[in-house]
Amino acid sequence: MMCMFCKGNVVRKRVKYELVGEVLGIFPVEVCVKCNERFYTKETSMLIEKVARKKGLWDLKSKTKVSRVGNSLAVRFNKKLVEFLGLNKGEEFSIFPESKDRIVISRNR
Ligand SMILES: [Zn+2]
Repeated sequence: MMCMFCKGNVVRKRVKYELVGEVLGIFPVEVCVKCNERFYTKETSMLIEKVARKKGLWDLKSKTKVSRVGNSLAVRFNKKLVEFLGLNKGEEFSIFPESKDRIVISRNR
C-alpha cells in the first residue's frame, strides 16, 4: 500500500492508541514510514470506539449554555464529563481566554 498523502511506503504495525490522555490499548494500524500518517481499517476504528465507549471516553464533547448564578455567569459540566474528570464541587480551576471564541480551563492541583 502507498500513502495517499506523500506516496511513501505504508507498513502494518501495532500501535498504542490514546484518547483524552488515556491509553485505550494496542491496535493494528497501517503507518506511512515517510509522513507517519496512520490508516485505520473500519474494523479497528469500530473496536477503538467500542473500547472508548466502555471506558466512558467516547463523545465527551458536548454543548453547554451559560447560566446566571447571582452576579456571575456559570458554565455547566454535564454528568459524563464530571465522571470522566472525577470532578467535585468546590474544586479550583484557572481560566483564561485564548481568543474571544476559545477559553482554556485548567485544574489547579
Ligand atoms: Zn505518507
